[in-house]
Amino acid sequence: MLIAGNWKMFKAQAETRAFGAAFSPPAGVDVVVCPPFTSLAAAAESGLTVYAQNVHWAEEGAYTGEISIAMLKELGVAGAIVGHSERRQYFGETDEGTARRAAAALAAGLRVIACVGELEAEREAGETEAVLRRQVSALDLHPGLVVAYEPVWAIGTGKTATPEIAQHAHAFIKSLLDVPVLYGGSVKPDNAAELLAQPAVDGALVGGASLDPDSFAAICRAGLLS
Ligand code: PEP
Repeated sequence: MLIAGNWKMFKAQAETRAFGAAFSPPAGVDVVVCPPFTSLAAAAESGLTVYAQNVHWAEEGAYTGEISIAMLKELGVAGAIVGHSERRQYFGETDEGTARRAAAALAAGLRVIACVGELEAEREAGETEAVLRRQVSALDLHPGLVVAYEPVWAIGTGKTATPEIAQHAHAFIKSLLDVPVLYGGSVKPDNAAELLAQPAVDGALVGGASLDPDSFAAICRAGLLS
C-alpha cells in the first residue's frame, strides 16, 4: 500500500519543515510526499520519503525549467511523478515525453509514479478505455514503476470516482501492464477507506488533502486498514 501526497505548487521550505514536524503516519504503509523542487531538500531532511513532481530524461543540457535525475538524487529524492494531467493539460506534455521521463528515471534507479486518466468529455464519449490504453501502452514494465489512475474530472473538483469506477479502470490498466495502480482524484479522509478497499486499488495519489498533516495521516491510516 503506497500513499503519495502531491503538493503541486504549495509549501515553501518553512511550511515543509512544519509539515514534517506535525506529520505522524502509521507504520506499515509506504508514504511519500512530492513537494515543489525548492522544498525537496527540506522534506528529505525532515525524514520523509520524497519524490519530485517531474524529472527530465537528459543528463544535462539546454532544457530551461527542467530538472535532471542527478540533481534530484543529490537531494535525497527517491522517485518522481511523471505525466501528471496538469503537466499534460497546461504544459503540453505528451505520452511520448512521459514515457521518456519514466524510462530514464527508472533506469537510473528512481521510482516512478506515471499518471494516466481520461478527461470528462472522453468518459462521456465512451473513450475511457481507449485513452487509458494509449497512455499505458507508452510505458514499459519495470519493478520501480507504479501507475496512478487519475480521472481528470475528479482532480481538485471534489468529484470522486465511485469505488466501482476506480476498480474497473484499475483492473483494465493491470490487464495492460502488471504494475501497482494508485487511485487519484479528490481522495479525502472520509472516502479513502472505500476506495482503498477495492482489490485492484494499491494505494492513492492525494493532492489537496495531502497538504494538511492530519488529513494526510488519516488517509494513510485508511490505507493501513485496507
Ligand atoms: C492530484 O493532483 O494528483 C490529485 C489527485 O489532486 P486532488 O486530490 O486534489 O484531486
